[in-house]
Amino acid sequence: MDFFAPRMSRFKPSPSQIASARVRELQGQGRDIVKLTAGEPDFPTPDHAKAAAIEVMDRNEIHYTPINGTLEMRKAVQAKFKRDNNLDYELDQIAVGSGTKQVLFNALMATVGAGDEVIVPAPFWASYPDMVLLAGGEPVIVQAGQNNQFKMRPKQLDEAIGAKTKWLIFSSPSNPTGATYTRDELRALADVLLGHPHVHVLCDDVYEHLRFDGREFGTLAEIEPKLYDRTVTCNGVSKAYSMTGWRVGFAGGPKEIIANLSKMQSQSTAGVSAVSQAAAVAALTGPQELVAERTADLQRRRDILFEKLSAAEGLNCDLPEGAMYIFCSCAGAIGKTAPDGRAIETDTDFTMYLLDSVGVAVVQGVAYGLSPYFRASFVAPEEDLLRGGDLIRQACAALT
Ligand code: PLP
Repeated sequence: MDFFAPRMSRFKPSPSQIASARVRELQGQGRDIVKLTAGEPDFPTPDHAKAAAIEVMDRNEIHYTPINGTLEMRKAVQAKFKRDNNLDYELDQIAVGSGTKQVLFNALMATVGAGDEVIVPAPFWASYPDMVLLAGGEPVIVQAGQNNQFKMRPKQLDEAIGAKTKWLIFSSPSNPTGATYTRDELRALADVLLGHPHVHVLCDDVYEHLRFDGREFGTLAEIEPKLYDRTVTCNGVSKAYSMTGWRVGFAGGPKEIIANLSKMQSQSTAGVSAVSQAAAVAALTGPQELVAERTADLQRRRDILFEKLSAAEGLNCDLPEGAMYIFCSCAGAIGKTAPDGRAIETDTDFTMYLLDSVGVAVVQGVAYGLSPYFRASFVAPEEDLLRGGDLIRQACAALT
């Protein structure tokens, strides 16, 4: 008899872990690896957020916290939703968890059961389908290709919806493509959803502030108020404020759903650390200029890497509209042969070739549900972006 529960075989460890293991192995051999794999901003946590955390520790307010977040935190989230998204949530419509990830996880675990379907546009953040599978449901993948800037078309959404559809999980800007839906594009998706009142929407807005070239932001509950009663709007402090390690995320949504998210959390991690919540309150309510300054710096780094990748033979990418990644096609490299004789047949072959031959780490597209692509993060020092880009170009040129 297998010792492990059947749910453990419903999902696989992330394929990006294979690359991470190889990176560690090569580094262990003394190889210098240029890592273009970061999934988090490299700026420090804002000083005022750190100061708020220290203050809470000094006051010894480091005990258990309410499951659904401290009152200060829920008030800060309430004000954030109003300020940034023009969304009104009562305090009992707000949940706070250990990162956006936990809030999404709670929402799926609390609502999805056997036979339930969840629509996940691809390329996707790898956790979405696995979370759905873990909850016992079925992810329904909708391919949003490069020919439509990696955006799901309204018709595709309409066709994917069935009687068993429980949720659409939606993220804009997206990981891994940076695709950022315009308000008109969101309006068109909202129109489809209006025709299917049984479908709920899990909006993952964690990259809300990481938008480039002045692109606008919209979230579905705000774009279409009629969706408000069936949308859970999720967000967190990780990406906007460079606070990934503090583990604070939050959601606003219908009272009953939010109560069940908290119920789910009550038997796992319970309330988020008081120290982290105090830092998050300071980040959400403090000066916001720094968010735009940091995003401008990311945009500058995006441009550096984009220029390099665009010059590489066999690669084809578009300028990302948001987030922190370039999702680049390596179709032109597939079918070629490396100098050491290995055949490049998949995007995993290609990324392993980059790693072994020139020491550049990126993540293969298959991890995000679309091949043959790779994700290159531009959260890296400028010299690494320049050097990594040149090395990728060299590696591509060496294929025959
Ligand atoms: N949603 C997306 C699309 C992400 O890419 C990530 C992290 O990479 C998360 C959620 C998790 O964010 P958090 O750190 O708030 O849990």
